[in-house]
Parts: sequence; structure tokens; C-alpha cells
Amino acid sequence: MTNKKPNDPKIKYGLKRRLRVMTVVPIILMGLVVAILGYYVYLNTIKLEVRRNLSNAAQSVSLFYDTSYPGDYSAEKYDDGTYTLYKGGVDISSTQPVLDEFTEKTKAKITLFYLDIRMLTTVTGPDGNRGLYTISNRTVSDAVINGQKEAFYDNITIDGVRYFTAYIPLFNSDGKCIGMLSAGKPAIEVEQESRRALLWVPIATFFMVLFAIVFSSFPANSIVKAINEEKKFLSEISKGNLNASLQKDITERTDELGDMGRFSRGVQKFLRDMIERDTLTRLYTRRVGASKIAYTQSQFNQAGVKYCVCMGDIDFFKKFNDNYGHDCGDLVLRDIASIFNEFMLGKGFAVRWGGEEFLIIFEDADLGKALTQLRTLRQKVLDHVLEYEGEKLRVTMTFGLTQGDTRDIEDIIKDADELLYLGKQNGRNRIVTPDDVKDITVDPDQKELLEIREK
Ligand code: GH3
Ligand code: MG
Ligand code: MG
Repeated sequence: MTNKKPNDPKIKYGLKRRLRVMTVVPIILMGLVVAILGYYVYLNTIKLEVRRNLSNAAQSVSLFYDTSYPGDYSAEKYDDGTYTLYKGGVDISSTQPVLDEFTEKTKAKITLFYLDIRMLTTVTGPDGNRGLYTISNRTVSDAVINGQKEAFYDNITIDGVRYFTAYIPLFNSDGKCIGMLSAGKPAIEVEQESRRALLWVPIATFFMVLFAIVFSSFPANSIVKAINEEKKFLSEISKGNLNASLQKDITERTDELGDMGRFSRGVQKFLRDMIERDTLTRLYTRRVGASKIAYTQSQFNQAGVKYCVCMGDIDFFKKFNDNYGHDCGDLVLRDIASIFNEFMLGKGFAVRWGGEEFLIIFEDADLGKALTQLRTLRQKVLDHVLEYEGEKLRVTMTFGLTQGDTRDIEDIIKDADELLYLGKQNGRNRIVTPDDVKDITVDPDQKELLEIREK
């Protein structure tokens, strides 16, 4: 068995899966609850509507008899068990076709009971029999006739068919309840209609859930994507790859993940500075400087991007150490380096080449442009006043500046160094370029410097 390295991934259930479960499961559960609740609420509404319609149908029939035949209901029974039903003294058995027409129009089956005996009805059994003069359901007659109030049932079975039925009591002028009128609809018809109407509940819920899942997945995916990018970035850094890059759209996010991305980049920059920059001056170390110059030269070789190499050295630096102490020397180095760092931004870069020697690379610059920039830089050094233990100290520097080309970089640096040396030899506090060489009185030992001019 091998031990895992500390930065090996230990993920069992990724964030993507967790977030998906976190969002999708509650949405589906909520969808189910909404669907079930919606179904029952809507079903109840439909039932109430059916009840009201049936009750209205029964009321309309009752009204029809009251207006067409004013007076009380009465009945006469014959020996054969049949009856004649009267209203206001008129035989109303002949109104059966009126009821049939009513049923045809309203789809509500009408039955008129005298007491609890079926007198007129539009309900017909499979054999066409209307089942007249039979007795009504006991529970119903108890509730409606004895209870003298309306009732509604969704489970009345007539001839083996279940009905939704509304009953209204019928009263004679003495206030006595003498029968009832019912309007009913086969349950199967009502349920078929409601099922059709209720179909929207699961369909609407399905699309609602789908929309919620899709909608919630956008932010969830973007969060997971950003986290994974940052994880990849930090993983590269933990492996020592300080050149790893983090996508811009992550560091530009305006949320906590954006902050994390920016902080991660900050850590990367801090670590890179720690490794690449000199602790005292924060300039690039000679090692890093060499690889950066190699890159600059490759840009020239490949794309012709011109560059200039400059070697600078603080004049009589030793005196700062000797006269004011080593700390003062350090302060001078730090001040000068920070002037370089600031000035060279966007123009190139500065490297601490040796103790108080600096290599400055001007990028995308020919000798003329680099010289102009270097003059400004030299002026900034001259203008700088360093306060040390109450003393105001000034620094001068000598620079050797030359144009970069395809030659071995060490040779080019050597040229710059020789120009610097020439400057030191001829009074310091100046810039020396190959163009100046002819004007300088040269020490015979330095004769070879003239050759730079020829190159
Ligand atoms: P010149 O004008 O000819 O360049 O004279 P100089 O005194 O600047 O040159 P020299 O080479 O004689 O002295 C450089 C000194 O810089 C010697 C060394 O002790 C000192 N030095 C090098 N590195 C550091 C450093 O990091 N801190 C301090 N305080 N001094 C340093
Ligand atoms: Mg010096
Ligand atoms: Mg020196």
C-alpha cells in the first residue's frame, strides 16, 4: 500500500454532485408536494362545482313545478302499487318528457320523490326501466326528508352505477317536507372530466420542476467550475509551478470565489517574489535575471523586438559603508533599487547583478530610446535625497549602455560592463554608450573598448 501525498485529491463526493443533490432533491420533493396538494385542492374545487351545478339543476326543476303547477304535492296510490302524482291538484305524470328534455340539455339526471317513493325520473337502467315507485336510499331520505335540508353524495348507486347526486327537500304550503328532488351525474363521467382537467397539475409541475432544476444548475455549475479552476491553480502551485495561470473570468468574479482567485494569485506572486527577487532590494536575482534576459533576446531573434542592456554601478558606494555603516549602505541599495523598480515598469526590468551593480534591460527600445529613458532614470537617482541619521546623502551612478543583438548574451553584458568601466575611469556619474567611446581618452589598457564602436 502506498501512502498518499498531502496534495493528492481526496475527493469522494465532488461539489458538483453535492450541489446537484442539494438543489435537485428538494425541488423534486417540493414538486411532488405541490402536485399532490394541487391535485386534491383542484379535485375538491371540481367536486364543489359539480355539487353546486347539480343542486342548481334540482332547484330549477323544483321552480319549474312551482311556477307551472302552483299548489301542494299529493299522490294517490293504486292497488297495483302504482301512483299518480299531483301538484296543485294537477296530475303531473305527463311532465316526464319535460324532465327528459331537461336531462338531455343539462346532462343531470332528475328524480322526483314523493316522500321516499320514486315518482318521476330520467334515470333509466340498462333495460330502459326507470324503476318507478321504488323506495329511495334510507340514509338519503333520513337526511333530506327528516333532516329537511339539502344533501350531496358522491357514492349513490343506482342500478349498479355510482352517481354524484344533489338532493333538495320539497315542501308543501303547510311547511311539511313531503318529498325530495335529486339531480345526479354518473361518477364515472364526473371523474373523467376532472381527470382531463387535472392533467395540467402533473404537466405543470413537471415543467416547473424542470425549469427550477435547469435554472438552479446555472449558478451551481458556474460555482463548481470556478472552484475547480482555483483548485487546479492551487494544485499547480503546491507542486511548485509558480507560472501556473488562473483564468481571468474567475479573478474578475465579484463574489467570494473572485476574492479567493485574487488571493490565490497574490500568494503566487508573493511566492514568486520570494524566490525570484533579492531580499534586500526586491530586484530580480542574477539567476532569474539571466533567464529573463534570455527570453528578451529570444523575442529579438524571433520577432525583431529591439532591446538594450545597461550595467549601472553606484559611485564610491564603499564610502557609505565606511562613513555611515553597513546599514546605511543597505539603505542606499534599497532606495536606488526601488527607484529602478518603479521606473522600469512597462519599460523593462532591473536585476541586482552584484553588490552595488545593477543590470537594466530596456525592452522594445533601440539605443536612442533606451538612452532617453536612462537619462531620466539617472536624473531620478541624482534628485533622490537619502536621510540617514540626520544627514542628507546623495548618490551618483555610472552606467554603460549598449544595444542588444543576437550575440552571446554574456558578450553583450561584458560590453555594457566595459562601457561602465570606461565611465568610472573618466570621472564617474555619467552614461557611456558605444557612441561616446571615440570622445573618451582611453587608457591604453582599455584599447579593446574601441572595438565595440566598430561592431
Ligand atoms: P566605484 O565608484 O569604483 O564603484 O567604487 P565603490 O566604492 O562603489 O566600489 P567598490 O567595489 O570598491 O565597493 C563596493 C562595496 O560594496 C564593497 C562591498 O563591501 C559593498 N557591498 C556589496 N554588497 C553590499 C551589500 O549588500 N550591502 C552593503 N552595505 N554593502 C555592500
Ligand atoms: Mg561602485
Ligand atoms: Mg561595483
